[in-house]
Amino acid sequence: MFDRYAENERIQKIIRNFGEKSIPQSTILYSLFGNETEEFPKFLAQYIQCNNKNDAGPCLKCINCKKIENGTHPDVVYPKSSGATKIYGIQTVRDIRLDSFILPNEAKYKVYIFLDAQNLSTAAQNALLKILEEPPSKSIFLFLCNNLSLILPTVRSRSQIYDISFFNLHQKKHNNNDDLIKKLKKSLICKDEYRFATITSELNGDKFLFKKVIFELISAIRKSIELKLVTTKNSPVISAELSDFSDAFALLELVNMADTLNDVNYMLEKNVNFNLLLTYFVSSLF
Ligand SMILES: [Zn+2]
Repeated sequence: MFDRYAENERIQKIIRNFGEKSIPQSTILYSLFGNETEEFPKFLAQYIQCNNKNDAGPCLKCINCKKIENGTHPDVVYPKSSGATKIYGIQTVRDIRLDSFILPNEAKYKVYIFLDAQNLSTAAQNALLKILEEPPSKSIFLFLCNNLSLILPTVRSRSQIYDISFFNLHQKKHNNNDDLIKKLKKSLICKDEYRFATITSELNGDKFLFKKVIFELISAIRKSIELKLVTTKNSPVISAELSDFSDAFALLELVNMADTLNDVNYMLEKNVNFNLLLTYFVSSLF
C-alpha cells in the first residue's frame, strides 16, 4: 500500500499538507470515482496518526497504522449513513459533535471519515458547520465526495479541497499485495497445493496483481538458485528468508519452477484465458 502512494507525486503533495505542525481540520477529497478511492482517506488517517511517519507516508507497521488498516482504531471513526440512499442525518452529526470534544483514546487525534460526503443532508451539513467553525483542536474531518456541488459553499469554504479523481482505479485492490505474496510463497515452500490454489483464487481476474505475483516468485526463486550455487561448506546459508526455497527444493526443481513462471508470464502477456492460466499456474508448480 505504501509504495503505490509513494510513487505518485500528486499524492505526495497532498500528504505533505498533513505534516506534524499543521494538520488541516477539514478536508474534502473529491473523486469522480467515489468508492474506488476509499483507501485514500484511510491512508491519510494512517499518515495523521502514525508513530513513525516520514515524508513518503505512514509506516504502516506501528500499532496506529495497523489498527486503522483493520478498521479497529478507536480514534478513527467512520460515521454511519442510513437507509438505501445512505444519507447522513443531522443526529449523526450531532453525536459526532459531542464525541469530538472528548480527547482521543490512543492516538494524537480523532479522525472522522465520511466516505459518502455527498450524502450529508443539508441539515446535517449545517450542523457540521457549527463544528467546523470552531473545531476541537484534536478533531480532523475527512470527507470523501463524488459530487462537490452537493456540499454547501459554507462547508467548502472551511475546508481544503483536493481532487483525487486521478487515482488509478486498480489501486484499491492491491492493498494486501505483500501479504498475499507472502502467503503464496509459504504455501509453495510447504508444498501445500490446496492452500496455494485457494490463495490464487483471490487474484480474481486481476492481471496486474498476477504479474506482480509471478515477478515476486521468480525473484525469490532466482535468489535461491544463486544461493544454492554459491553455498559451500565455507559459506553457509546467509539469510533464513533467502534459504526458504533453497531448503525446500532441489536445484533442478527451482530451475523448472522459474521456467514455468516465465511461461505463465508469457501467456499472461498474450491474454490467455485468465482462469485457465491460473489452473495451469497452480498445477505446473506442484
Ligand atoms: Zn505507522
